[in-house]
Amino acid sequence: MIEICEVGPRDGIQNEAKFVPTETKVELIEKLIASGIRYIEAASFVNPKVVPQMADAEELLTKLPVRDEVKYAGLILSRSGLERALKTDIGYLHVVTTTSDSFNLKNARRTVADATEELSKVVSDGVSDGRNVLGVLGTAFGCPYEGEVPVERVLSVAESFLKAGCTGITLADTTGMANPNQVSEVVSTFKSAFGEDLDFGLHFHNTRGLGLANVLAGYNAGVKRFDSSIAGLGGCPFAPKAVGNVCTEDMVNMFHGMGVATGTDLEQLVETAKWMEQNMDRSLDGMLMKAGTA
Ligand code: ZN
Repeated sequence: MIEICEVGPRDGIQNEAKFVPTETKVELIEKLIASGIRYIEAASFVNPKVVPQMADAEELLTKLPVRDEVKYAGLILSRSGLERALKTDIGYLHVVTTTSDSFNLKNARRTVADATEELSKVVSDGVSDGRNVLGVLGTAFGCPYEGEVPVERVLSVAESFLKAGCTGITLADTTGMANPNQVSEVVSTFKSAFGEDLDFGLHFHNTRGLGLANVLAGYNAGVKRFDSSIAGLGGCPFAPKAVGNVCTEDMVNMFHGMGVATGTDLEQLVETAKWMEQNMDRSLDGMLMKAGTA
């Protein structure tokens, strides 16, 4: 069994040009839950001037169905984001930094070392408040400005976040630069450094068509948690030419075909993807929603 963290309502929608009203986000999340999704990155506590699509984080959270088995996460990029999140009842905080100085300076105007130091305090304050905090390390497989990102640096940021109290780490391929061999190597390096029990997830974008190949490489290396986005929505507004995340229903179709359980209903996911496409002014990237299930 693998665990899916559905990031369509956050990573997906934040890079769509068409504004998605709060009510549509709520309906999307209800449909995702009905399809079997149990972990949803629903909001980002980012400056609304920078990412207007996420300006309704607090309002959205008050409108979501409360169910014991459903985990909602919010993205945190700064101390002010944490302060906003702690005023809501969100259970999971995804604290993000990238691992490339050039990317981080452009994105957050500080070096990785400065970001790690500041965000480690954000992590420990989130943990003290009783929230589950996961660290998300962006550009972990490469940076569009400086190329290769040394795995030692990614490990050292992960170590600081885990020391501060993170219960899990997600490595994000922010701009779609990973390849399957690299994924296998990075995963085995992480497992040797932090042990098999680390709650460890992968977040891929399909920018260069390698999203599912990278998911498969991660799965074969022992990873059991993957981020994906319904209908392949979205990307990252700070990443040049980023395209959508790995598509949820395409990934589920792959796993079900391999006999790996996901806890989701594929037909319902496809219906949800088609419904979402009707709400956007463009054709979305998912393949299965066009080809149909076999
Ligand atoms: Zn992303």
